[in-house]
Amino acid sequence: MLPHHINGQRVSSQSTTHGAVYNPATGEIIHQVPFATSIEIETAIEAAEKAHQQWSLTSLAERARLMFAFKALLEKNIGALAALVSLEHGKTHADAKASVQRGLDVVEFACGAPHLLKSTYSERVGRDVDCYGLRQSLGICVGITPFNFPAMIPLWMYPLALICGNAFIHKPSEKDPSTALLLADLLYEAGAPKGLLNVIHGDKTVVDALISHPKVKAVSFVGSTAVAEHIYQTATRHDKRVQAFGGAKNHCLVMNDADLDDAANAILGAAYGSCGQRCMAIPVVVTVSDKTADALIQHLAPAVQSLIIGAGDDDKTVLSPLNTAESLTRVQKYVEIGVEEGAKLIVDGRKATHPKQGFFIGASLFDAVTPDMKIYQDEIFGPVLCILRAPDYETALSWINNHPYGNGTAIFTQNGEIAHDFAARVQIGMVGINVPIPVPVGYHTFGGWKRSAFGDLGLHGPDGIQFYSRLKTITSRWPKGRNANSFTLPTH
Ligand code: NAD
Repeated sequence: MLPHHINGQRVSSQSTTHGAVYNPATGEIIHQVPFATSIEIETAIEAAEKAHQQWSLTSLAERARLMFAFKALLEKNIGALAALVSLEHGKTHADAKASVQRGLDVVEFACGAPHLLKSTYSERVGRDVDCYGLRQSLGICVGITPFNFPAMIPLWMYPLALICGNAFIHKPSEKDPSTALLLADLLYEAGAPKGLLNVIHGDKTVVDALISHPKVKAVSFVGSTAVAEHIYQTATRHDKRVQAFGGAKNHCLVMNDADLDDAANAILGAAYGSCGQRCMAIPVVVTVSDKTADALIQHLAPAVQSLIIGAGDDDKTVLSPLNTAESLTRVQKYVEIGVEEGAKLIVDGRKATHPKQGFFIGASLFDAVTPDMKIYQDEIFGPVLCILRAPDYETALSWINNHPYGNGTAIFTQNGEIAHDFAARVQIGMVGINVPIPVPVGYHTFGGWKRSAFGDLGLHGPDGIQFYSRLKTITSRWPKGRNANSFTLPTH
């Protein structure tokens, strides 16, 4: 049974309820993960509360030093972290390593704590009166993370929460929970005081206890839209500050003037990398003429057919397994639905050759998909790419804007005017121009629109600092003793 990580150490759970963790490449159960008891949740809350009391008083340099040490240890252990991600998630080792690196980018950003937490100061807003802002900690922050990025997404949360002076409780996905434990080990090896970061495992019951706990001040969530909406509604009802990021259906618009070699290469990786289990994957391509659609399919179809399917530790593999048996059944079902709906199945991933054990499926490619189809409307979260043929740019743009999800999108074109117009008018949070997966760098902010995100502030970058700190504005007069006896609102 995997341990929790409470008050600076790994601790065994007394829980009688637990879940199975699989190796997606073999289909075997490799661990049991405990679902925390209410006593274990309280112990983590107490540890975090104590840590916050001291930590919120530390200097910014001390907080930055912790992040520098953590960064060095993450770099040293990137191979071990990637191996764990690969083992429990299924993604290839190279892809797992890249995902840890994208998490590390935010730790690097957090190393700038003294600069990031500078606030504002206005001298002489009135005679001898100054006005300034303080950015202060919130207290205990909670992060609930999805299975698809077990290192990257937690690293987008707690480094910034910690430099803002908070303590943190991480509830990782029960499907791949081991990486969270190694990350916590490394943070303590870097010198974190006891209780600053706690990892407790669990399912809905544990999540609901955390997001309604009176001592929790802020909740960051990443996962499916249905759960994001539940988290947002429940946690805000319990007076928490909340950011909740949900599912996606990212469109890639290929204009007639696009470099099709470049676009096809980019689309192939973005659609099928990590077996399509990325929130910024591209599961939809829209073309604006039949000629472009036909040419693109000519590029894509043979490449899709020949993607090498295998286990994550094999260097040649590009198509890794899905994370669970349920995901496999869901993806198979959606391919069936697409055929029933009348979409044209150009490559049928169900027929691909792959290892017999594990949660493998080949890549599928659909043409002639239309906006009324379920395979277009739903998030499939697997290696299934749908091609839609729009008659013109305005129709393509309206399809993207009318889709309920609004995480990411990309346009491939050589026309700067169209690219500019697309960036300005598209109703999506993150936009790529000839860039297939426009995940912003750590010092910019990540976040979708519409039903891909609930709450006002995005992850990492400037929004992360704002989310994990609260502003206090001070108005002060020195020397004192100049206050006239006045019953009207002061003006300056
Ligand atoms: P999920 O919603 O099933 O689980 C996410 C987390 O919520 C896990 O820790 C899980 O234990 C917990 N959880 C699950 N059901 C719950 C419930 N009913 N009540 C409370 N907590 C619950 O998501 P997943 O399958 O782990 O991840 C895949 C999803 O996450 C996809 O929809 C993907 O698009 C999305 N995602 C979005 C982003 C983004 O930035 N928008 C990033 C990564 C993944």
